[in-house]
Amino acid sequence: MSEPLVHARNLQVRFRSREATVQAVNGVDFDLRQGETLCILGESGSGKSVTLRAMMRLNPPRITEVSGTLRVGGHDIVGMPETAMSALRGALVAMIFQEPMTALDPVFTVGDQIAETVRRHDGVSAREARLRALALLELVQVPSAARRLDAYPHELSGGLRQRTMIAMALSCRPRLLLADEPTTALDATVQIQVLLLLKQLQQELGMGLIFVTHDLGVASEVADRIAVMYAGRFVEEAGVSDFLAQPMHPYAQGLLGATVHASSRGQPLTTIPGAPPRLDRLPTGCAFAARCRHAQPDCLVAMPPLLPIGTDRSVRCIHLPHPVPA
Ligand code: SF4
Repeated sequence: MSEPLVHARNLQVRFRSREATVQAVNGVDFDLRQGETLCILGESGSGKSVTLRAMMRLNPPRITEVSGTLRVGGHDIVGMPETAMSALRGALVAMIFQEPMTALDPVFTVGDQIAETVRRHDGVSAREARLRALALLELVQVPSAARRLDAYPHELSGGLRQRTMIAMALSCRPRLLLADEPTTALDATVQIQVLLLLKQLQQELGMGLIFVTHDLGVASEVADRIAVMYAGRFVEEAGVSDFLAQPMHPYAQGLLGATVHASSRGQPLTTIPGAPPRLDRLPTGCAFAARCRHAQPDCLVAMPPLLPIGTDRSVRCIHLPHPVPA
């Protein structure tokens, strides 16, 4: 079988300062095939965005240490020199950020910004780059695209700015698209439009898509697979329908219980007590133990491994099964 588009094994990302070492990603394993969508789900600070940024090497270089295996499109992302990595950003892997105003330059029109990306990557003429920018805005369904080419970012609505960001990310035809909570800043109606657009583009262009969110409803709209992340590790990975039918890890069950979804009608929402552990002082045993109602003394001895359950799911818990709370 050919190598997957993304192959991560024991991926670790540490941030070192004089005061502390923060273990932000702590042994992540996964594969992603071309055309597949993985949603990484978890609370703020669980390591989702750091994992995504590691794939483009966008974490701050002076304080970041990365180890383990991370291959994208057959390229060794961890060991690659920066000049080679720079050439692959945009072409092999591109990212859509949460807040487009921080990623778009306020003093250039959106047409100029997209055209500049195209010119830098493909070396085409200014006229050809502008035509490609127009085609990209049409691809992401920006209304009156020809007129919007000459608009500045502040003249566009939040939804149109996010579509512009998607157009820029697609401008070099990446094989892997990373999306870091791209709809969080949008209102609910625009959010669903952007999600459906992303899913449609991913299928039409055959890209791999890794989508980071803390919103289970968003994950269920776009994902083929869901990985739940807690304290820098995946604690459950499964196909989206299996996961929604019955999450198995107590933390994943807590997330589902705290979210409004189709099968939660008439049931009260629940909360997960406590807070995640500090990433500079991770416990020896299960990182979720202090919040887990199923915790037992042996949970505190060593970090549970990610155990396969059937053919298409893995769960990091040594005391399965736990019935889904009513
Ligand atoms: Fe809870 Fe123990 Fe499972 Fe951790 S290993 S999730 S503490 S039951």
